[in-house]
Amino acid sequence: MGIAEDIRAKALELGFEGLGAVRLADADLAGYVVRVEERERKAPLGTGAYDFMRGLARPERRFPEARSLVVAVIDVSRYRIPEGTGGLIGRHYLFDSRRNPQSPDSRRITALTGFLGRLGLRCLHDEHPGIAPMRWAAWKAGLGLIRRNNFFYTGTGSWKQITAWAADRELELPGLQAPAPCPEDCGKCAEACPSGSLSGPYVMNMATCVSKLTYSPGPAGEGEIRRETGGWLYGCDVCQDVCPFNRGRRQGTEDFPGLAETAAKASPESILAMDLPEIKRELAGKFFYIGDESLHRWKLNALNVIANTRRADLSDLVRRSLSDPSPEVRLLAAKVLERLSEG
Ligand code: SF4
Ligand code: SF4
Repeated sequence: MGIAEDIRAKALELGFEGLGAVRLADADLAGYVVRVEERERKAPLGTGAYDFMRGLARPERRFPEARSLVVAVIDVSRYRIPEGTGGLIGRHYLFDSRRNPQSPDSRRITALTGFLGRLGLRCLHDEHPGIAPMRWAAWKAGLGLIRRNNFFYTGTGSWKQITAWAADRELELPGLQAPAPCPEDCGKCAEACPSGSLSGPYVMNMATCVSKLTYSPGPAGEGEIRRETGGWLYGCDVCQDVCPFNRGRRQGTEDFPGLAETAAKASPESILAMDLPEIKRELAGKFFYIGDESLHRWKLNALNVIANTRRADLSDLVRRSLSDPSPEVRLLAAKVLERLSEG
């Protein structure tokens, strides 16, 4: 068995769903940039908005010795979704191992990094944002494909976390059997997208995607209720939930460490009852896309969920937000009370 096969065998032993390796020269990262530019033409967002994606296509800038990408896939559909979080928090975020040393997957990644080192490989691993465009790298490493909703799928659906190392040696592995492509006439993901962000195959506008709206920096709705975010507090799974290739893969059986406690704090009512230092302590470490500078966004998101799901039973809590230190929260709380009083 060659070194690449040894790495794959170790990854499977550690509990990864799959592992692939592709030489940098074969990863066609220039092709990825072409796709990014196509998307930029179809969904323009202003100067520089796609630059971070282009930057991902140059792993050698951060690690000049890079010769290959070693890519591993973790199946997070094995985990049980805590009660009350389905439809509220995106599944990838619930089971995200990044910045979470308690996560079993974080330990798997650390163990595999150690194994690569013991094999004499010099590697760079970056958990966020990654050493390369992760979904593209996983596709090129033969682990699955990217579907029209832009998510990466193995033969067992899209509830995956992808992680990758740039390695200083040329490594290659034969790809796994490719899953069937999207059916010719299927457009369920774009049809179901609540904000119209996914306007066609592979075309997603980051400025209007619900997932991004719930955590991106910048104005959070200027005091208006965001109807398009529906019941989502952080993330959005709609275009994956409706996909036939995820059918029957909704609920796992393993408990993710610490998640039940965090989930209990992530309900709209808990969030409105917390002050910002508590939100920082209870939520910000795990759901890190909302940065410390915009923690009040949690309250705005909670208020949106309450308005969109018509939780009139929480009116008293919303009323208390009329004296919140944040003027944005006060303004939105007033709008939400108005909405709730309309029934
Ligand atoms: S994550 Fe939600 S809003 Fe974003 S493209 Fe998918 S369905 Fe649309
Ligand atoms: S819903 Fe249909 S078109 Fe969209 S990703 Fe799934 S199979 Fe492909």
